Order: sequence, then structure tokens, then C-alpha cells
Amino acid sequence: MPGDDMSSRGASAEQPPLDEKADARDELRALAGRLRANLSLRARSGLAGVPAGRSRRRAPAVVEGRDAVAALAVAAPGGADGVTVAVFEKDRAGTEAPATPLRPTGLPGLQLAREELGDCQRCKLAKGRTNLVFGVGNPEAHLVFVGEGPGADEDAQGEPFVGKAGQLLNKMIEAMGYRREDVYICNVVKCRPPGNRNPEPDEIEACEPFLKKQLAALRPRVIVTLGKFAAQCLLRDETPISRLRGNFRTYEGVQLMPTFHPAYLLRDPSKKKETWEDLKTVMAALRHMGLGPSAGAP
Ligand code: URA
Repeated sequence: MPGDDMSSRGASAEQPPLDEKADARDELRALAGRLRANLSLRARSGLAGVPAGRSRRRAPAVVEGRDAVAALAVAAPGGADGVTVAVFEKDRAGTEAPATPLRPTGLPGLQLAREELGDCQRCKLAKGRTNLVFGVGNPEAHLVFVGEGPGADEDAQGEPFVGKAGQLLNKMIEAMGYRREDVYICNVVKCRPPGNRNPEPDEIEACEPFLKKQLAALRPRVIVTLGKFAAQCLLRDETPISRLRGNFRTYEGVQLMPTFHPAYLLRDPSKKKETWEDLKTVMAALRHMGLGPSAGAP
């Protein structure tokens, strides 16, 4: 607009005085400082990545345990996807009433779960940890990988799957056409079992609610469980992983594909072929949903 001094262009006729420029610079510096502090806090709290934009997919939110005939979730008109999801329940008379208090989804949901986990001392793994390993990736990911628990590298760095098994997982993700930062990666237990032993039932029990909160916040379209612990934990099924793998199951209405753990594949590379079959099945399912990297991964 001519004469509109909101524009940063063509302002040469009316340069701001020097002290105004200095004020603007100070303000900018303060803003950058606050942004840096905020990002560093998020990184320390185990939250990495920002939404890569609106996603095209959403699984229906799950409403639990009310005396309701039906529950339906709708995205609030004009609300930001992943933040404002209004849920209504139809009671027996068929009238709609607000449901149980809602948890936020996407990044705010993950942040809330991380805050609730806090400086967790709920099980004996807390004593031996260097870092609690919450999870990493895109809070709007439609594909989530769930492993067993952090190893030494993950404990040292506070990020899941950064050791040798993590390098193989990265290759698997890339072979599917994604980047590591497109998906979300987490574990059943958030602290390293000593000597890389298996997580024990009481440790899984203490940590599982937080995995559930993460998955509820993420609302992925497909979950890939890596190894027997993640599959058996989420599916409540003791069937050996060699028989669970390769077939879609359902977890809270979400497609779940059990497959082998990358650490196992490092020990027995002959199992890579079956794992790749499982991942191809996942890719086909995502494509069927109109998703997948070729459609532009969120
Ligand atoms: N193995 C896992 O199950 N999770 C990790 O984060 C690393 C190795």
C-alpha cells in the first residue's frame, strides 16, 4: 500500500532515528535469547523436533471408560490440528455432553507426558541412569517405532537408538523412504537396564503408562514395535516374536506391526529379509491410507 510504513521496503525517506534502531536490535537480541533458552529447555526435556506442518491424517481419538453409548472426536473448527480436539460423548438419551477432561495431542501432549514423568524414581532403573530417554522425532509423525529400552549410548546421550542398533534402525527408516526426523522413536522403558539386561516386569509396569501417554499424544497411524518386549507389552500377548512378526494387529485402534529388533538383526543378519517384508507391509498400509513418504511425509 503506498505510504504504508508497515512495509519494510521503501522506507528510506523516513529512516528511524539511531536510538530506535538500537532499541530494535536489543529487542531482537532479547527475543533470540528467549528462543535459544526455550529450545534448549525442550532439548533437555527430551523433546526434539517441531511439527513439520499440518498432517493429513488423524486416527480417531480414544475416549475411555464413561457411561456413554458412543464417543466421537471432532477437530474443533479453526483449531490447530493436534492441539484443540474437542470430544463429545453421546449419553443414553442421545444428547451430546463434554467428555472426560482431554489431554492435548502433538507436541503439547508429549510435553505434558514428559512433565508428568519428571525426574522419575518410580522403579529401580532410576538409580543407574545417566539420562532418562523419553523419545525423539516428529510430534505429528504418522509412523512410530517403539523399542525396548535405552542401551549405554542412549543412556549417555539421552536419545533413543543412537548406538549400533540405532544406525541400523536409521537405515531401515531411510529404506522406507523416510528420514529419522519424519518419524517418532521411543522405548517401553525410559531408563537403561543395567548391563543391558532385559527390562523386568515391575519396570515395564512402572513405565508403560508413559508410553501410552506418548502414543495417545502422537496418534500415529502405524506403530512398528521392535523386538518382543514392545510387541508383548502393547499387545498383552506372550506369543514369541518370531510368530507375532509380520502380521498387523490393533493397539487402541491403531495398526501395529511387530517386527524384529535391530539389535537382533545385528546378531542374525539372515532375519533382515523378513524384517524388510514387514516394513514393506507397513509402507503398503500407509500408502493405502494416502500417506507415506512419496505423498510428502509430515
Ligand atoms: N535398543 C532399544 O530397544 N532401544 C534403544 O533406544 C536402543 C537400543
